[in-house]
Amino acid sequence: MAKAQMVRPVTLPHDLYCLSPTNSGPRELPEPDVQILTSGGLRIPAHSSILASVSPILENIIDRPRKHTSSEKVIPVLGVPCDAVVVFVQFLYSSRCTEEDLEKYGIHLLALSHVYLVPHLKQRCTKDMVQRLTIDNVVDVLQLARLCDAPDLYLKCMKMIANHFKAVENTEGWKFLQHHDPWLELEILQFMDESESRKKRTRKHREEQSLYLQLSEAMECLEHICTEGCTSVGPYDVEPTKNKGPCSKFSTCQGLQLLIGHFATCKKRVNGGCLRCKRMWQLLRLHASICDQSDSCRVPLCRQFKLRMMQEKRKDDARWKLLVRKVVSAKAISSLSLPKRKRDEELGGTMREHGFRSFKL
Ligand SMILES: [Zn+2]
Ligand SMILES: [Zn+2]
Ligand SMILES: [Zn+2]
Repeated sequence: MAKAQMVRPVTLPHDLYCLSPTNSGPRELPEPDVQILTSGGLRIPAHSSILASVSPILENIIDRPRKHTSSEKVIPVLGVPCDAVVVFVQFLYSSRCTEEDLEKYGIHLLALSHVYLVPHLKQRCTKDMVQRLTIDNVVDVLQLARLCDAPDLYLKCMKMIANHFKAVENTEGWKFLQHHDPWLELEILQFMDESESRKKRTRKHREEQSLYLQLSEAMECLEHICTEGCTSVGPYDVEPTKNKGPCSKFSTCQGLQLLIGHFATCKKRVNGGCLRCKRMWQLLRLHASICDQSDSCRVPLCRQFKLRMMQEKRKDDARWKLLVRKVVSAKAISSLSLPKRKRDEELGGTMREHGFRSFKL
């Protein structure tokens, strides 16, 4: 008798059977032939054919042989509030649910959609929950996303935690997690660590790319200064043209002219340990590596460098060549449209080694 009291009278939303995904208007359905039993004891009459067509799991349960063929099939859907089950059944019939339902029962519906394999509902819930993520609920939602195998939601949660870790650390959810799920805590900390180094790698790559661009511009200026002359510096047989208007790469060109001026007059020179002279030396060497003019090139030391490169097969040639290649291609590749290719870890070292760590003329 006590058991019978637990069974609440059937209270179904009156429009439950009127909503059909295939039909815009109300549709006549046969008598319900199964009942869905909720944790609160609510029995929802339903149609096995419809349940089976939407959820393969429910189909399995319906097809399972019964002990008493005469008895009506009862499918228990337990562990979530009654009203969440009602919304779930409504969705199975109509493929619809309201914003309010999602707000109230989103986590339950996500769990149900996962357990009963209803991908449409899962998608709906996941999208909705991404919108409703907050610092306070993000840890709980992450756990759910992991349990329910919802990768999009999982990633969104991870990113939010990583970006607001200081605040998340103070939430009840985080404290609970620390005591009850150290593996997930570790997973989160690992994710944060990786995303931090991912950011660093991207930043470093951008910096390097802009350095290659600057070097490539410096190469253009060097040639332009040594053949046409610009502002105050030019080849001995060409009068620097002062009335030609401002140089198109003014700041690079200006800096390079100052450097050339210094290089010509410095008493310490490269071997005396002058850093500016060393930089100029490297730029001239870089030019020689790029230059494809034979004897006609006007850039100082171009021929000497080329000669030396042919004579000595130096060990660091591979690294130097890599740098040269990067500088040559930097102009063609804008850093934005750069394809995600595997970065050459050698490069950082290459540039440091050749004194281009921070390129300032
Ligand atoms: Zn110029
Ligand atoms: Zn110097
Ligand atoms: Zn040259």
